[in-house]
Amino acid sequence: MAFTLEDLPIRDDLRGQSPYGAPQKHVRVALNVNENTHPVPQDVVDDILTSMRTALATINRYPDREFVTLRQALAGYLNAGLEAQQHLGVEQLWAANGSNEVIQQILQAFGGPGRSVLGFPPTYSMHSILASGTGTAWIAEERDAEFQIAPETVVAAIRRHSPDIVFLCGPNNPTGTPLSLETIAAAYDATDGIVMVDEAYAEFMPRERPSAITLLGGRERLLVSRTMSKAFAFAGARVGYLAAHPAVIDALRLVRLPYHLSALTQAAAVAALRHAPAMLQMVDEIIVQRDRMVDELRAMGYHPYETWSNFVLFGGVADPRAAFEELLEHDVIVRDLGIPGHLRVSAGTADETSAFLDALRAITARAEVGSGTGIGRLGA
Ligand SMILES: *Cc1c(COP(=O)(O)O)cnc(C)c1O
Repeated sequence: MAFTLEDLPIRDDLRGQSPYGAPQKHVRVALNVNENTHPVPQDVVDDILTSMRTALATINRYPDREFVTLRQALAGYLNAGLEAQQHLGVEQLWAANGSNEVIQQILQAFGGPGRSVLGFPPTYSMHSILASGTGTAWIAEERDAEFQIAPETVVAAIRRHSPDIVFLCGPNNPTGTPLSLETIAAAYDATDGIVMVDEAYAEFMPRERPSAITLLGGRERLLVSRTMSKAFAFAGARVGYLAAHPAVIDALRLVRLPYHLSALTQAAAVAALRHAPAMLQMVDEIIVQRDRMVDELRAMGYHPYETWSNFVLFGGVADPRAAFEELLEHDVIVRDLGIPGHLRVSAGTADETSAFLDALRAITARAEVGSGTGIGRLGA
C-alpha cells in the first residue's frame, strides 16, 4: 500500500480536505481562472526589467520589510480614483504575495482556533480554504435570488452566528454579482468583528460605482483587499494589497513573515504601478468582450448572471462536466465549479471570446439535434 498523507500525523482538521484545484492545463484558449489574457505591453516589461536589474544590485541584502515605496505607489494608484476627503495615507496600505496571502494574514490575526468567519457561497473558494488552513471555523450562509446579498440578509446571518470575521466579495467570484455599499455598511454596523471586502475585480465595475474603499472613513474594522492579478495583468508576479485603518496594518505586522515581499516583487510592482494607465488599458476591451459573452450566451438560450467582473457565470447547462470536456476538445478551458447546471468563463481577447462562443454554439447545436451528449440549453 502506497504511503499517503492520511498516513502522516497531519492535523485532524485537515484530514480529508481538498487543496485549491483549478486545473492548470495547456490549452490554446484558457478562460478558466479569470486572468487578464492580454500580455503586459513590451515597453512596460522593459521598464519593469530595468527596475528589477537595479534591485538585483543589492539582492545580497534583505528587502525593505515595510515596502514603503510600494505602499506609496499603491496609495497613489487608489487615491487617483477617490475624492480628496477620502484619500488614503501610506500607513493605511499593506501588501503581500497575492491577495490570498493578505487574506491569510487577516485570518491569522483575527481568526484562528475558537474563532469563526462568515461567508456567502458560492464565493471565492480560497476564503474557506484559508479559513481551514488557519483553524478558523467557516460558517456558510445563503445568498438571495440571483446570488445577491441584501442588507437584511447579511444582518440576519450576523445576528444568527455572531462571527468574529465577515467575508464579503464584491463583485463576487464565481457569480460576478455586484455587492452594494448598503450591504457592506449594514454588515459593519451589525458586528463588533472584522468585515473584509474582497475587491479583486474592482476595476471591472461600472466606473460610476464607488468602491468599498470609500466607506473606510470612520470604520476602523472594515478591510478592503485588492489584487494586481486581474485588471493589472500581473497574476504571475503575486501582488495583492489591502486598504484599512493603520491599527489593522499593525495587527498584520504581528503575523507576517519578516521580509515577506521580495525585493524583486517590490521592484516589479512599483514599476508596473508607474504604468497603471497602460497596464489597465485592456480593461475596457475586456468589458466589451464580457458584455458580448453575456449577450451571445443569452441568445443561445443560457442564463448569464449580471456581472461586474471579467467573467460570466451562466446557467442552463444540462451537464456542466460534459460541456467542460467538449469545450476542452475545442481547445477551450472554462471552469466547472460544481454548481449544478452552471459554468463560469473568463472574458478573453476578441479572438479567444469568439473561439469560446463558436465552440459552445457548436456543442449546443449538436445537443439540440439529439446527439445524446446531454449538453444543452435550459429545458433542452
Ligand atoms: C482571483 C481572486 C483573487 C486574487 O488572488 P491573488 O492571490 O491576488 O492572485 C482574490 N480574490 C478573489 C475573489 C479572486 O477571484
